[in-house]
Amino acid sequence: MAISRLSQLSMQLRNAEDQEREQNGPAESSYKPLRAASKIRIITIGAGASGLNVIRTLRKHLTNYEHVIYEKTPKVGGTWYENRYPGCKCDIQSHNYQLSWKPNRGWSSSFSPAEEIETYLCHLYAEEDMQNHVTLEHEVVGAYWKENSGHWKVKIKNLKTGNSFEDHCEFVLNASGVPKGVNLQFTLVWPDYGALVEDSKADMGDHASHWQWPEISGLHEFSGTLVHSANWTEGFD
Ligand SMILES: Cc1cc2nc3c(=O)[nH]c(=O)nc-3n(C[C@H](O)[C@H](O)[C@H](O)COP(=O)(O)OP(=O)(O)OC[C@H]3O[C@@H](n4cnc5c(N)ncnc54)[C@H](O)[C@@H]3O)c2cc1C
Repeated sequence: MAISRLSQLSMQLRNAEDQEREQNGPAESSYKPLRAASKIRIITIGAGASGLNVIRTLRKHLTNYEHVIYEKTPKVGGTWYENRYPGCKCDIQSHNYQLSWKPNRGWSSSFSPAEEIETYLCHLYAEEDMQNHVTLEHEVVGAYWKENSGHWKVKIKNLKTGNSFEDHCEFVLNASGVPKGVNLQFTLVWPDYGALVEDSKADMGDHASHWQWPEISGLHEFSGTLVHSANWTEGFD
């Protein structure tokens, strides 16, 4: 008796499910088979040449992911956006100093000026439709590995509003520029990587893109204009 009641109920449920599927299409199940791939979230720090190349590399090799780059300046280009002192140019010939998948055949000289390299990177950014991945004027101020939950907590400051907030991801990619010392603790981090400790912090300081005045005594008593090669006052000569 109980068995026949159960089979009756299961038949009714199956009919209801069939009807719903006919009306709404297949329902997305919250149960995933063992070893099914999960969507991952990746945060990259910096949208210089390296950050833009990361967008392209991930597009080429990954499918199920979200990717956001936080960039502290108002434009992409990194080194070539920031360094504008007179005569600033690359010291590797331009036909080698470019992304192999986006060759520029129109460099104006063998060692192209900063402005031209930045224009090249901005064109590539627009042409490859990379804007959706980049959040400009947002500085990453800290990244903390949370051992228990197996993800990164990333602290970000919106430089337009001054507000800070947190983001979370499985991977942090550090494309924040050439470090001055060897104090970069992590570049690419895999959650299962055994060497990481709870709440470890990726150090964001002391990079070439975080320029500093040299320690010269009396420097700031100088009565003339002080300019730094990485923060050149436009038009100053
Ligand atoms: C004058 C000059 C000439 C050079 N010439 C050559 C050359 O000829 N050949 C060569 O190989 N290399 C050269 N370099 C080195 C050059 O820096 C690298 O080649 C290349 O530009 C590095 O690109 P990147 O994207 O890794 O870093 P960067 O171009 O430095 O970009 C890093 C980006 O990260 C952002 N960022 C940093 N910290 C944060 C943060 N906390 N939050 C959010 N965003 C952040 C920065 O604003 C920047 O946009 C030169 C450098 C300079 C300054």
